[in-house]
Amino acid sequence: MAKNDDQNLLKKIIAHSKEYGYVFPSSEIYDGLSATYDYGQYGAELKKNIRDYWWKAMVQMNENIVGIDASIFMHPTTWKASGHVDAFNDPMIDNKDSKKRYRADVLIEDFVAKIEAKIDKEVTKAEKRFGDAFNKEEFLSTNGRVLDNQKKIDTINARFKKDIEEENFDDLKLLIEELGIACPVSGSKNWTEVKQFNLMFSTELGAVTEGASKIYLRPETAQGIFVNYLNVQKTGRLKLPFGIAQTGKAFRNEIIARQFIFRMREFEQMEMQFFIKPGTEMEWYENWKEKRINWHKSLGLGEENYRFHDHLNLAHYANAACDIEFNFPMGFKELEGIHSRTDFDLKAHEEFSGKKLQFFDSEEERSYVPYVVETSIGLDRMFLAVLSSAYTEETLEDGSSRIVLRIPPVLAPVKAAVLPLVNKDGLPEKAREIMEELKYSVNVQMDVKDAIGRRYRRQDAIGTPYCITVDHQTLEDGMVTIRERDSMEQRRVSVDEVVAEIEKAVDLKQLLKTL
Ligand code: ATP
Repeated sequence: MAKNDDQNLLKKIIAHSKEYGYVFPSSEIYDGLSATYDYGQYGAELKKNIRDYWWKAMVQMNENIVGIDASIFMHPTTWKASGHVDAFNDPMIDNKDSKKRYRADVLIEDFVAKIEAKIDKEVTKAEKRFGDAFNKEEFLSTNGRVLDNQKKIDTINARFKKDIEEENFDDLKLLIEELGIACPVSGSKNWTEVKQFNLMFSTELGAVTEGASKIYLRPETAQGIFVNYLNVQKTGRLKLPFGIAQTGKAFRNEIIARQFIFRMREFEQMEMQFFIKPGTEMEWYENWKEKRINWHKSLGLGEENYRFHDHLNLAHYANAACDIEFNFPMGFKELEGIHSRTDFDLKAHEEFSGKKLQFFDSEEERSYVPYVVETSIGLDRMFLAVLSSAYTEETLEDGSSRIVLRIPPVLAPVKAAVLPLVNKDGLPEKAREIMEELKYSVNVQMDVKDAIGRRYRRQDAIGTPYCITVDHQTLEDGMVTIRERDSMEQRRVSVDEVVAEIEKAVDLKQLLKTL
């Protein structure tokens, strides 16, 4: 099923996630809390497996990268130094009729994306018309309609970039009006002024308000790494280039938090800051772009589902930045950011803390503040990428249908299910023996209820790559049936082999070796 053919795919994934213990709306018994979700029994496993793969690929596979776990609360000056108190804002705009709030930049980006889609359509049409003789580059640079649309995009982007840079929100509003952008809910073009909105959540430290100081829930994990730069460098006796990795929760009071776990107010990041010698940042930036896209591709979610998107508006700290976008059910959207952050953060922390955060380069015999290239991926967005590429509805040869989550076996929450054909005659006991053996290496489940066909469907729906069926014959010859989730193929193998085969098929080692 081609993803974007199905407008309802996201809805189906949300419903499926809830029905099969992947993701629940948070505090649902109280009608939930907007944009917060809880990961259920399978969701938590999938999340852990993604996190493990990221951590191992970063920390275990690279001698010069170490991992830390910093706290969520940090000294409030951290956020002054990082620029978040003054500049971590989104321009918001309200529609007066629907009373819905939007990010002004997102309204414009979505408008531009629609024009881009028109260009893509022209290309697809021409591709069909010209067949093998089609030259995409030539077409893009000569076709009248494409050129008109590209010009429109460039004009909008240039003005948009200038407005953001100059914080000219009056013109941003004017731009939205001139483009005729309407509220997606009401269709109305009746907009308020554009205003800045700080995304950090604040709370108070101390039991009494008197003397309490305002602190923030971290909006990114990166700063926990920057403030520990020297601690880690010294205690680890690390030399440039080296990286510090971290996974953990981050909090942002997003203006519009929707699209399921894609944009939440509480989410998890997996970040790595790579400290380098100034002047080498472009090399490392390219290097990390390549390493990260390879990590994604290794999972087999479909290479066509990824693309790079260079940032038009660089954040206050960056001198080069791009996103790795994934083809989510709602189209290509940011999954991961790769940023060349220069020495902005460490320098700012030096200034605000009065402490030197430098590296002594023994070859050059001088100290300097390292530059940083960071890779920053949202664990929840990665989870959604895995789930949306995995979710498949199939009609089988016999006319029946099944929903199967084709999750890469190394990431699947349950690796194998052991199913005694009947719940008697010594079969459950034999099944338990197999489970007891497998459970030391993989997450395994035993299911004895219902007809075998229904149990297979249940395992398909949670994405279990292997089912092991124990039948009467097993007791005689020690052979079981192994059923493969995606092909539904069944084979007879001995119990010993089945254990080794599954362990090998879901071993992260195989994947790490491909990196
Ligand atoms: P966006 O433009 O989508 O708001 P961003 O550019 O602000 O994202 P970064 O600050 O670069 O995001 O954060 C790094 C990563 O953290 C993103 O690539 C994304 O995967 C994840 N992330 C950011 N905000 C959220 C959120 N509200 N919910 C879930 N994941 C998020």
